[in-house]
Amino acid sequence: MNESASSTPTCGGQRAPASPLAPTPEQRDGPAPLAHFAQMIDHCLDYATAAKAQGHPVVGIMCEYTPREVLLAAGAVPVCLCGGSAATIPAAEQSLPTNLCPLIKSTFGYHVQRSNPFLELADLVVAETTCDGKKKMFELMGLNRPMWILELPHKADTPAALDAWTAEVKKFAAHVEARFGVTLTVEKLRAAIQRMNRERDLRRRLAGLLARDPPPLTGRELLQFSSLISGMEADLVQYERAWRWYSARRGPPAAARAKPVRLLLTGVPTVHGAERVVEIIEASGAVVVCTENCTGLKPLLEDVDPQAADPLAAIARKYEHLPCSIRTVNRRRLETLRTLATAFQPQGVIELVWQGCLTYEVEAVTVQRFVETELKLPYLKLTTDYSPAEAERLRLRVEALVETVRRRWPAGGGGR
Ligand code: SF4
Ligand code: SF4
Repeated sequence: MNESASSTPTCGGQRAPASPLAPTPEQRDGPAPLAHFAQMIDHCLDYATAAKAQGHPVVGIMCEYTPREVLLAAGAVPVCLCGGSAATIPAAEQSLPTNLCPLIKSTFGYHVQRSNPFLELADLVVAETTCDGKKKMFELMGLNRPMWILELPHKADTPAALDAWTAEVKKFAAHVEARFGVTLTVEKLRAAIQRMNRERDLRRRLAGLLARDPPPLTGRELLQFSSLISGMEADLVQYERAWRWYSARRGPPAAARAKPVRLLLTGVPTVHGAERVVEIIEASGAVVVCTENCTGLKPLLEDVDPQAADPLAAIARKYEHLPCSIRTVNRRRLETLRTLATAFQPQGVIELVWQGCLTYEVEAVTVQRFVETELKLPYLKLTTDYSPAEAERLRLRVEALVETVRRRWPAGGGGR
């Protein structure tokens, strides 16, 4: 595989729509890593196409529970397929209900239209049994795509759940071996673990810079440092360069006011193409200093033991800990929020819920109570979809939260 022709991480297989915001000086002039990730889709497509031509399978994934290490160890290219575009939703609504989550509809719309080049390249699609909408959408997608169902136990943090999940990860690994004619040796698995650990570490360090006050980059800029394909060497080099560049930077990013309100964003993923909510928040006098979701820090917080005698069991353990709202009882999410609030010192919390996402919508009741009574921070829930028409309504609600924070801590501080 040509490692130099690579690129970046998150879900979605589409080119990003033009941002409504003017580019910051960093976006116009540098740093070089931002320019690299601005071409993320093109890099990923070149990489996946070249890899496939060299005999490496391309595997589409749609959830952070899929252990990428297994696919990397098999020499496969794991590509995130989650849709972030509103443009593909009408095609999906020909067969899916209109009140379904936009992420599911957008992903399915690409499938119907055959317009996601990564999905069209995929030799296999992994269907993770998370929310009901995704599971039933996968049944339709699987009618004419090669698909492997990865069964996730929904009860969280029990020995039985871990045993079942470990067995499932091993069954998945055996399927990958048989389908692609490879052997997943301990050495190959350890190499893949080390690669993913390195990527997580670099992305954690970059995200960790937003703990500074003022932060040297915005939450929207941080979102840019991600890729549809994990583990590519060219991306890892650019993560490292970005971390060095922003580490040396002093003062707030050009896009942020001198003393922006520090907010933590939690909830559903803001996949590639659906970053609009972060842009609205940061155009309202705030900076998203920390993101507790699957396109933010949530999947990066834990690594896999690279020396474990049973690498597949170690991989299963790390992924089983991911605190998604489809698990019950999802206590780990509250603990994660507490840890992140301590580290990043937000002055308020915004919960984002995609319309039709019942698990995050209902779990928001628990999260709000936790944020207000335990973290003692103002909380705002935004339920929305991918429609640009929602922008004004969202902006007014975010501005009200920002004003609440400023009234509570007129001299700044607060979370600090
Ligand atoms: S939010 Fe849940 S279902 Fe969605 S990608 Fe994350 S773990 Fe998977
Ligand atoms: S946002 Fe909610 S409904 Fe949509 S795919 Fe994720 S878990 Fe499912």
